[in-house]
Amino acid sequence: MRALLFFGLIIVIFLLIRWLFNRRPTPESNAVSDTKQMVSCDYCGIHLPKEEAIKDAENPGQYYCSDKHYSQSKNHTG
Ligand SMILES: [Zn+2]
Repeated sequence: MRALLFFGLIIVIFLLIRWLFNRRPTPESNAVSDTKQMVSCDYCGIHLPKEEAIKDAENPGQYYCSDKHYSQSKNHTG
């Protein structure tokens, strides 16, 4: 029955090692820390990420969701 005792000891050691590893504070790799700035389309008001928005060259700070809304905002002929 010594083999059984030895086997049990291995399991205890294994659990102990696992417990020690679980205790270790896991380094949180927050690579997605950059906050996406949201802007709203000046034409329809829909919100979208700044990097996806069409930037108004003439009026800085104004953004559009698409080229269509950008041109439609420029043409105020209805
Ligand atoms: Zn729009």
